[in-house]
Amino acid sequence: MEYKIALAGNPNSGKTTLFNQLAGAREKIGNWPGTTVERKEGKIRSGNSDATVVDLPGIYSLSAYSLDERIARDFLVKETPSLVVAIIDASQLERNLYLVIQLLEMGLNIVLALNMMDIVEQRGMEIDVQELEEILHIPVIPTVASQGKGVDQLKKVIFSRLDAKPPTLHIDYGDIDDTLHALEAFLEKENISVSTNYKTLALKILENDPIVFEKLKTSPHLQKIKNVLTAAKNQLIEDPESYLLERRYAYIRGLVHECTTHHLTLEQRLTLSDKIDRVVTNTYLGIPIFLFFMFLLFTLVFKIGQPLVDLMDVFFSFLADASSHLSLQLGLPEWFASLVSDGIISGVGSVIVFLPYILLLFLGISCLEDSGYLARGAFIMDRLMHALGLHGKSFIPMLLGFGCTIPGIMAARTLDSEKDRIITILILPLMSCSARLPVYTLFAAALFPGYQGAVVFSLYLLGILLSILMAQLFKNILFKEESAPLVMELPPYRLPNGKNIITHMWIRALLFLKKAGTIIFAAVLLIWILASLPAGVEYASKESVIGKIGQIAAPAFKPAGFGDWKASVSLITGIIAKENVVGTLGTLYGVEEEGLIKVLRQHFTPLSAYAFLVMTLVYIPCVATIATIKNELNWKWAMLSVAYTLALGWILSVLFYQVGSLVL
Ligand code: GDP
Ligand code: MG
Repeated sequence: MEYKIALAGNPNSGKTTLFNQLAGAREKIGNWPGTTVERKEGKIRSGNSDATVVDLPGIYSLSAYSLDERIARDFLVKETPSLVVAIIDASQLERNLYLVIQLLEMGLNIVLALNMMDIVEQRGMEIDVQELEEILHIPVIPTVASQGKGVDQLKKVIFSRLDAKPPTLHIDYGDIDDTLHALEAFLEKENISVSTNYKTLALKILENDPIVFEKLKTSPHLQKIKNVLTAAKNQLIEDPESYLLERRYAYIRGLVHECTTHHLTLEQRLTLSDKIDRVVTNTYLGIPIFLFFMFLLFTLVFKIGQPLVDLMDVFFSFLADASSHLSLQLGLPEWFASLVSDGIISGVGSVIVFLPYILLLFLGISCLEDSGYLARGAFIMDRLMHALGLHGKSFIPMLLGFGCTIPGIMAARTLDSEKDRIITILILPLMSCSARLPVYTLFAAALFPGYQGAVVFSLYLLGILLSILMAQLFKNILFKEESAPLVMELPPYRLPNGKNIITHMWIRALLFLKKAGTIIFAAVLLIWILASLPAGVEYASKESVIGKIGQIAAPAFKPAGFGDWKASVSLITGIIAKENVVGTLGTLYGVEEEGLIKVLRQHFTPLSAYAFLVMTLVYIPCVATIATIKNELNWKWAMLSVAYTLALGWILSVLFYQVGSLVL
């Protein structure tokens, strides 16, 4: 009979190194059936006997979340190897042992290779191999695969154990133990099997394992099995899957504690990375430190960026004036001059002026990301954000959203789960971006003199509050299924690489400019045409098409207190860019910004002004944002963000005005 041996272990545990040592150069490389994941096979010899070794994909567990895990599981279940060599990185015992425990629970015949023993030694750690053997009832062989140490011993043990009887592992599953045994007994009695032992099957059922349930689909006992699962869920309140995971880790912690001794003090064992982490991920200091870094980033970006943005603004105003003069001098028609200066240059320019912010923000973020700190930031915020129904990594995009929604949406790419990314992108427009600030300050100065700061601050807060509420809502409505558990590894700190950062920043800048040149350009053109037609009409007047549209839209805002058609038009042009609200009101009331403050006092009350600001905060994201959402997700989500913000903005501003009118 041909003996088959499987090599299983976490990624980077030294599997490939050991495989090459065991099989020499006689390896065969192909793909796993039906996939492009590499499959390595080789012959291992000792005296006259030989066996085939198969290198399984590197995996952390035998759940069914990834393709690699599924391949490994299929192999173990279907091809029933005579022996599994479990190889673990002994310097990270706790994390590596999880897979070993799962393999043991499957009732497999296992030999454990404790690899990386050189590192264990360097760290002043000692592992009691004999104790480990006694507790797990399997042979344990220390190795240093990279130096070939322990490989001969391992080979010898492998051949002596080919026909050994697998041990039974007893983990105390606490509250769920009785359920587990009952289920196991039931499976055995009814002879329900999917080619693993009954214990594994029972565990997988309680873990709600999708593959097992797929296989049990046709079983006449499916309903009964599901009932057991439901009962276990009710009994534990939380889900049995996490519960089992925690019990296994508890077992492993005990095991590691029994079998290891540290000869160095904790202080001596810590690397520099660990020492930094002890401070920056500290329970109490972590959040303040992180907030400080973020505050610093923001202040710097807007401090350094402000003069540059002003400069860009001056440049575009100059360009608009110059081009209009030039075209008139050249004898080109007036409408053409207006198209170029009022339409294209002012419109597209009002977006491009923000380029310095974009560049600086991404410069800062790339630095933080490359250094390894951003991963810590997400780690620290994870808890807080989870409480809000969001993922820890959502924090960065939301923070960015206060500057500009677009980089925020793009930064949501760092989220691994599609669900979290979508929710984050959907709520991002509720963060008050810097383009809304001119509108806030204008109205605050006009109608809330003396309380400007409080008014602006309240709008920022309102945005945050709404984003939290909406995140909960979206999560409950759109994504009911549960997400896969996440193990986060903190990368080591390193100095940011200059070239990486510049490239990163440049790519983002080009994306931004490309959008300004396409989508925004088109929208600007459209608004200009609507404001200029029918022919001969005064630009953006009541008789222009946009004026007519404004008058149609106006009644809808009457219940919110700002039923003036000019306000409606400004909201419409505000969709192009939120700053447009100010500019449009200026044009329509025919005054400059200083005069506008007086005019607004005649047309708005504090109540209707605040309702208008609430609308400005919440309603439809700007065109560039909509386009970015479409690019990052698709049209469906972009339209959803338009629809929900419009509805929410209208409801809130009407509610505010009506309730306010009753109270005041
Ligand atoms: P795999 O991902 O499990 O296939 O791991 P590899 O065999 O590719 O090994 C990952 C890294 O660990 C490589 O750089 C190896 O040279 C190194 N490595 C493997 N075994 C040992 C060991 O016993 N000690 C040390 N220090 N390094 C090892
Ligand atoms: Mg490998």
